[in-house]
Amino acid sequence: MTPGSQPPVPSPRLLVYYGGTFDPVHDGHLSIARAARDVLETDIRMMPAADPPHRAPPGATADQRAGMLDLAVAGERGLCVDRRELHRAGRSYSIDTLLGLRAEFGTRVPIALLVGADSFVDLPDWHRWRELFEHAHFVVAERPGSPLDGDLRPELAAALAGRWCRSPGQLRDAPAGRVLRLRQPLHGESATAIRARIAAGEPWRDDVPPAVADYIEHHRLYLNGGEAGGPDAP
Ligand code: ATP
Repeated sequence: MTPGSQPPVPSPRLLVYYGGTFDPVHDGHLSIARAARDVLETDIRMMPAADPPHRAPPGATADQRAGMLDLAVAGERGLCVDRRELHRAGRSYSIDTLLGLRAEFGTRVPIALLVGADSFVDLPDWHRWRELFEHAHFVVAERPGSPLDGDLRPELAAALAGRWCRSPGQLRDAPAGRVLRLRQPLHGESATAIRARIAAGEPWRDDVPPAVADYIEHHRLYLNGGEAGGPDAP
């Protein structure tokens, strides 16, 4: 610091939420959460979606999915589980979650949603998707085979104009509305593939943390397969 200069202003807090069905949580999810934690220098709140209303959960129940997340983040620096969507009735729409966060934390704190590229390219299918940019930034994790580099849907490409930012610090300069691409080693794990391998009696344990694998076996989960939709799936 030069004589007479002011100490740097501490960056405002950045709240990052990583939503998903996590049915089950796997090493791909954890790798992205760790990469985001390190790049963004803040905690990552993993937020399991509620069970779809009016039908039995297709894979594990919401409580089981959250329980597996607890096991997965145990001992992990800067990763935690946020159950707010499980405490709300009905389908877990991101817009409702963000409105709840804004009611709780106010309009000025920067908030970001961490999503995989495969989810992000289908943003126009999410409930009230254009409003999401008013309440949050997006941090988009690359995923093998995801079309981030390809042609985006025209309405999404138009909505993203001027929103891409180059450095993580830019997410702290505004409460919402920016998009950061999280570049990290790609991970091929997918919950659908893990459930299918369990149902088929094929090896699967290497794709999830050991404590999660033990939980799945103990509770005899996914033996009949099971297909789950994403939180904002129509
Ligand atoms: P499924 O295979 O059933 O679609 P999933 O493995 O994608 O499940 P979700 O709980 O639906 O798991 O994913 C939560 C979020 O994590 C989504 O935004 C998804 O894009 C992202 N994600 C999941 N796996 C990966 C991965 N291997 N690499 C990058 N992003 C991922």
